[in-house]
Amino acid sequence: REMNFEDKVSGSARAYEQAKSVIPGGVTANIKHFAPHPIVMDRASGSQLIDIDGNEYIDYLLCYGALILGHGHPRVKEAVYKQMEQCGSFVFGAPHNLEYQMAQKLVDLFPGMDQIRFTNSGLEATLLSIRLAEAYTGKHKVAKFEGHYHGGYDQMLVSINPDLNGAGEPTSPNSVAESSGMSDYYLEHTVVLPFNDLEATEKILRAKQDEISAVILEPVQGGFISADESFIKGLRQITSELGIILIFDEVKTGFRLTVGGAQSLYGVEPDLTALGKVLGGGFPVGALGGKIEIMDLMSPEKGQDILTSGGNQQATDRALFHSGTYNGHPTVLAAGLATIEVLEDPLTMKGLLQQTELLRNELENLYHRHSITMQTIGMGSIFNIVFTDEKVKNYRDLSKADLDFRKRIDYELLDLGIYTKPGNRYSISTVHSEADIKATIDAHQQAIKRLK
Ligand code: PMP
Repeated sequence: REMNFEDKVSGSARAYEQAKSVIPGGVTANIKHFAPHPIVMDRASGSQLIDIDGNEYIDYLLCYGALILGHGHPRVKEAVYKQMEQCGSFVFGAPHNLEYQMAQKLVDLFPGMDQIRFTNSGLEATLLSIRLAEAYTGKHKVAKFEGHYHGGYDQMLVSINPDLNGAGEPTSPNSVAESSGMSDYYLEHTVVLPFNDLEATEKILRAKQDEISAVILEPVQGGFISADESFIKGLRQITSELGIILIFDEVKTGFRLTVGGAQSLYGVEPDLTALGKVLGGGFPVGALGGKIEIMDLMSPEKGQDILTSGGNQQATDRALFHSGTYNGHPTVLAAGLATIEVLEDPLTMKGLLQQTELLRNELENLYHRHSITMQTIGMGSIFNIVFTDEKVKNYRDLSKADLDFRKRIDYELLDLGIYTKPGNRYSISTVHSEADIKATIDAHQQAIKRLK
């Protein structure tokens, strides 16, 4: 049977071999790789992906959650075409009105945002947030939580998926490098905290309060392990007390829990917030929003003196540097604004959350009927399937689940027309239908039978 699937995706195998000669590992992001080879896609529509061999899949990866309206949503397409027609170009490289419109929209939607800057990725947004926090506080270490992802740059490539053998005690995790090629500088300057453990987190923050500029976190780790309400509220209190900037990385959660992110849902205002993914409606984007007194450090008006000082000014007096050729790209912002407009219809978000709930319940029922220990965990329109009945509150709990079985199920599912990267979480779109959900449950049932 495994032979069978390989026969079905022989075009992907050949394309992968070809790509490997000019692209390391045949993929443009390491995470897109899986053995024996990734499946190469050709086109997509709604909830469906079609590979270069013509196989059809119901897509639960949805470009790592970005495509909340599914593939090629007509309202987004229309907005993009219209924008390109109207402006007669693709990009200006100068200010334009959509930047203001989107910034105003985000300021209205997110309680923690007074001002906005756009970037081309979520990575750039969190990177900028850290520079701002360091400039604002004059401190140069950053604290992050074990298992949390904020983009692949050196300071944040710490303890995302560490081998627990070298990761230290649960209440005082070590800083572990996620990549070769990293200087020890970053391990020394990135403090690692235990998620959902307020007592241990507070102890570490108090001990290093004079060095730590910011705490950054995913309010819902990986999109599916939510912060306890008391934890996130406690964290807000402690960071305020200690003069530490609180950064919410809402690249995943910004539009997937509710429009307005985890900060709206929890009623907790961070100092800075990073956005991405859904914000671009399928195009590359990121944004950083936050309190005016911090964000304003970027205003070039702050650095006006530099024009008259002959360049002799100290770096500490200068405006905080932020740049990007394609920042605030009009086509991207048109797609993002159209996406947000669709999501702002309360019925749309309600339907999406109901579909997600339905799928989660049906999956749990199915596995439990087969006496398999399993739970779905998540919040909003993202969830994960974990094979453990222990409560999962952080990275260490998650690593106790049976990931091997999960991957074996996912490989069977690929053959049965359900797409996600083996082991990855599930994202749902507004166009996943009841028929999709039924087909997904049937496929899981078959996968279970095959593995028994
Ligand atoms: N932060 C979080 C929470 C993310 O999920 C991601 C992307 N998976 C990023 C940051 C980085 O975003 P990008 O891939 O757009 O750089």
